[in-house]
Amino acid sequence: MAFGTPYPWVFVDGAFVPAEEARLSVLANVVSYGTGTFDGIRAYWNAAHQELYLLEAAAHYERMRRSARILGLDLAVADPVPATVELLRRNGVRGDAYVRPLLFLAGEQLAVRMHDSGTRFCVAATPVPGDYIDPRGVRCMVSSWRRASDVAVPNRAKVIGSYVGPALAKSEALRNGFDEAILLTGDGYVAEATTSNILIRTGTEWATPPVTDDILEGITRRQIMDLLGERFGIVVTERRIQRSELYACDEALLCGTAAVVVPVVEVDGRPVGTGGPGETTVALQRGLQAIARREDHRHHEWTTPVYEELT
Ligand code: PMP
Repeated sequence: MAFGTPYPWVFVDGAFVPAEEARLSVLANVVSYGTGTFDGIRAYWNAAHQELYLLEAAAHYERMRRSARILGLDLAVADPVPATVELLRRNGVRGDAYVRPLLFLAGEQLAVRMHDSGTRFCVAATPVPGDYIDPRGVRCMVSSWRRASDVAVPNRAKVIGSYVGPALAKSEALRNGFDEAILLTGDGYVAEATTSNILIRTGTEWATPPVTDDILEGITRRQIMDLLGERFGIVVTERRIQRSELYACDEALLCGTAAVVVPVVEVDGRPVGTGGPGETTVALQRGLQAIARREDHRHHEWTTPVYEELT
């Protein structure tokens, strides 16, 4: 596993505090009910530039604002990006990192409800010294667990409590000797993996489940669709995908902030394509990393330099 010990400074409700002081009561509402939302943002270190770049920070906070709106919570900070930049500076982060904003019900009321409770907004950062998931390829199983439906838990909100399903699916996959799980919707269509979206290629068609199929609307998914268009002239079809298409497709990839871009080389024991990483997938993997570290001159608008004014 690739995450290290969290950095010592944490941003909590407008102030920077030592992590050991940023403690939560076991009675906090979120501990019992998962009442809150979180996000995950990558920061990429470029040794040649001696610079750290936040990837799509504004887009992640925009999604968090929408998640909060769905939950009826208020992300009170007008623009959390400067505070996030300051957090990374304070922690002297000089390596790849994962930034974790959280907005949750911190009050101790026992009642199950989203309103009338004190919220807390925190941002923490953790080193990422290695890959979260093997970038050479993953062997997936279609999980016996399914995505909750939007009528039960809003999937387009990144809700803390709704990660129990993906956690069960991931453990099931690992215990069965696979690397990752693919979850179907309640009515049996492909939705996504535990913490990443999925795209498949069959012949020349690239397809991905629509945002109405109980997926989290991934920011990496959007980047991959942009890059497929710009670099390969491919328009990705957003449509329902059946399980058997996973078995018949020629190429498949998972994409997400932690996973970045990962080839799917096997599903339920059947090789995807030739059973090795797809050519386009590898190009996307390299292309996105190069943009994230600003080794590529394109899409600088996706990255925010952390130390720029200091150097
Ligand atoms: N689906 C789920 C359930 C996730 O948790 C994530 C990770 N945030 C993703 C998809 C991918 O989203 P993103 O590319 O924005 O990280």
